[in-house]
Amino acid sequence: MNNMPNTPLLREMTQTIERAKRVAETELFAPAKTRVITISNQKGGVGKTTSAVNLASALARKGMRVLVIDLDPQGNASTALGVEHHNSVRGSFEVLVDGIEMAEAVVQSPEHQNLFCLPATINLAGAEIEMVSFDNREQVLKLKLQEYLDSQNPRLDFVFIDSPPSLGLLTINALCAATEVLVPIQCEYYALEGVTQLMSNIERVKRALNPTLMVGGILLTMFDNRTNLSTDVAAEVRKFFPAETLNATIPRSVRLSEAPSFGQTAISYDPKNIGSLAYQEAAIELAQRGSEE
Ligand code: ATP
Ligand code: MG
Repeated sequence: MNNMPNTPLLREMTQTIERAKRVAETELFAPAKTRVITISNQKGGVGKTTSAVNLASALARKGMRVLVIDLDPQGNASTALGVEHHNSVRGSFEVLVDGIEMAEAVVQSPEHQNLFCLPATINLAGAEIEMVSFDNREQVLKLKLQEYLDSQNPRLDFVFIDSPPSLGLLTINALCAATEVLVPIQCEYYALEGVTQLMSNIERVKRALNPTLMVGGILLTMFDNRTNLSTDVAAEVRKFFPAETLNATIPRSVRLSEAPSFGQTAISYDPKNIGSLAYQEAAIELAQRGSEE
């Protein structure tokens, strides 16, 4: 080893091997009670779904029992978890609008025995209109989820809710059902402008509907260390939200974007990939942060 040249590439490889070893060796403890984490950012394409499914898969592999609720009519989280979501499948629409029990629609993901999914079908696109006339329309998901969680033995440790890129009734339901919000921020120009608006919306939901809601973390996504822009945006976000921003940063990686086309998360598609590694680190950090509180 001493005779090998100490090049930047070699240093990076050594660091990656050390990080993977740390991830593999870290043991996680189940949270005291089920943590319900809504992944939200009204901006489209910032990595909400990619974060939901990869964090969920990483935690399932660490022994946690995890449910992903797909609350986006696009059904991208269902796809990535290898779960059917054609329009005759029962999913989040039937739970919210027809009032079926969540247990009738939740399925196990082929990814892992500890990983479950409430799929979203395209029907969900009509849910907001249907729900407008409901009493307590903001709390439908919260009540359904609570019933489901109470019926589960062994209990679930984490629930991730993947929300659509809007601040409509589906997202409000996701924020009302959650104990915390995780905000993915893409490392690009204008990233913070949307976030200020999002934070004030979270504050509003907290005041009016869900007083215990908190921002559980901000996750920097699609970081490209070759560009000054990514570095500047990441530094800016950390300056504004020093406590909330996770240390783990998700790099841009083609493997992360390819995985869904194989009906897989990146963590099962290519566990050694640098993006999968970063999501595993983020999952560990998220789990450890929760257990400190
Ligand atoms: P939407 O608002 O439409 O629901 P989203 O916020 O859920 O989008 P994703 O679907 O997770 O965002 O990501 C948007 C696109 O970027 C997808 O094609 C995804 O595969 C890709 N992507 C996400 N994260 C990364 C990454 N770190 N590196 C490369 N590509 C990524
Ligand atoms: Mg999405």
